[in-house]
Amino acid sequence: MNKAIFINKDGTLIKDVPNNVNPKFVSLNEGVIEGLKLLQAKGFYLILITNQEGIAYGHFKEQAVLGAVYRVEELLKFKGVYLDGFMLCPHHPNGKVRKYSVECDCRTPKPGLLINAAKKYNLDLKSSWIMGNRLDDIEAGNLAGCHTVLIQKEVATSVDTESDEVRKPGGVFVDIEKAAEFIVTHSQ
Ligand SMILES: [Zn+2]
Repeated sequence: MNKAIFINKDGTLIKDVPNNVNPKFVSLNEGVIEGLKLLQAKGFYLILITNQEGIAYGHFKEQAVLGAVYRVEELLKFKGVYLDGFMLCPHHPNGKVRKYSVECDCRTPKPGLLINAAKKYNLDLKSSWIMGNRLDDIEAGNLAGCHTVLIQKEVATSVDTESDEVRKPGGVFVDIEKAAEFIVTHSQ
């Protein structure tokens, strides 16, 4: 079985521009290349995950999201980092496009994307990690049985006051590079 790092796209891997699918506005966050190179070298699959409720709301089509993801892949590849997979949730219960306007199992904080990825890529979730910038990502990771790290430039106090065990991250780091160093020292 394989082990993976699930990386949330908007706000974790790339700078968060709400509802952006324009490749021109895709830019990587600090520490991404250094961190992902380290994890790649340790044999982790790198899997990009994202909630894209803009598809359910009819703001853009899935194809447009793939265009932005292609740009992410290109920026990473240019520096020697290769994504192994991509998982997307296009749903939202209050959407406008009928087929996507459902209560699904894959929109974080639900763990469906991670569970589906585990089947698709033959992953051992117990040796896998999720990196996210929101506690919804952490909850999804914990529910799936993964390890979790929260990436926040400024460490939010919400983490300290969060009493819900399932929303507690395994660590909080300012960027992916710092998180990667932690992951490498805390996994076999
Ligand atoms: Zn979904």
